Amino acid sequence: MRRWIYERGATTAEEMTDLPQRLRTRLGAEAVFGTLSLAAEQVSNDGTIKRVYALPDGQLIESVLMPYEDGRRTACISSQAGCAMACAFCATGQMGFARQLTEAEIVEQALRFAQELVKRGERLSNVVMMGMGEPFHNYENAVGAMRRLIGELGIGARHITVSTVGLAPQIRRFAGEGLQVTLAISLHAATDEARAALLPINRRWPLAELLDACREYAERAGRRISFEWALISGKNDSVGEAERLGRLLQGLPAHVNLIPLNPTAGYDGAPTQAPQAQRFVEVLGRFGVSATVRVRRGIDIDAGCGQLKAAVLKRERAAAAAAIAAAESAETP
Ligand code: SAH
Repeated sequence: MRRWIYERGATTAEEMTDLPQRLRTRLGAEAVFGTLSLAAEQVSNDGTIKRVYALPDGQLIESVLMPYEDGRRTACISSQAGCAMACAFCATGQMGFARQLTEAEIVEQALRFAQELVKRGERLSNVVMMGMGEPFHNYENAVGAMRRLIGELGIGARHITVSTVGLAPQIRRFAGEGLQVTLAISLHAATDEARAALLPINRRWPLAELLDACREYAERAGRRISFEWALISGKNDSVGEAERLGRLLQGLPAHVNLIPLNPTAGYDGAPTQAPQAQRFVEVLGRFGVSATVRVRRGIDIDAGCGQLKAAVLKRERAAAAAAIAAAESAETP
């Protein structure tokens, strides 16, 4: 059955044609092959697929599949419905926290893409836990899910990335798991004051403690750390800011991913333009810190975190308002 699900992409017992019919019937009646139901899907010009799934209790989460020219197929999956971290520019943070996802709900997002890819002769090669939610605020389920991605879906640990807002104690705990997963840290600012203004969690775990925990992970896992930096025009994209970041990361095995801000409804900020972003990369280079400007994918389909869900919610609210209006007008004589 494992082979049917993971290697041939079967999603129902009936497809497992070498099982006795009685077993197939019983499995069909008793086994649950997944609990996510597709609520919305958009396909971008660049091939990016963005989905909103409804969970059994009606919560909505997002998953994205990004196909790359070099053959990589990367799933970006969620770890929570909503998020409690309240980062200023993040659409999910603006929505607040709803609930933890179970281990199975996390794994199933990747499994669905993996099964669909297998059926067309392709393979899910990478998974990034960079969707909705803070994975280390749902530690057990997130780590359990990573172990299943490795053991059951056959994704190499080095092809999995977990992105965290910077929960220092969980980073240290993760260093003890013995997984060679890539750790990505959402940094976005190089001073405590500036970072706390964007990421409230910085008040609890300031930069010094965060970077200590990163050093521990880099040493124990033997991996370079990725640092995420949303480039916000006029806010954190100056030469001076790049120099501060360069000094902060000097000597650490690190790579900086620069992502021009995806504008969201709840945050007044604009993305940095390409020439300014390139200058940022050059300044970091002077400190021996490698950096790349990440290509924004699926930008035509609300692919920024939480944005498609926001669109679905808006549609649902509009439909509900229309239904109420219709009911009210039906009541008026
Ligand atoms: N909670 C985790 C993972 C989710 S977000 C974390 O904080 O790392 C994945 C990445 O996208 C994070 O680096 C996050 O800061 C960034 N991000 C969120 N909203 C963004 C936006 N509007 N524009 C650019 N990057 C954004």
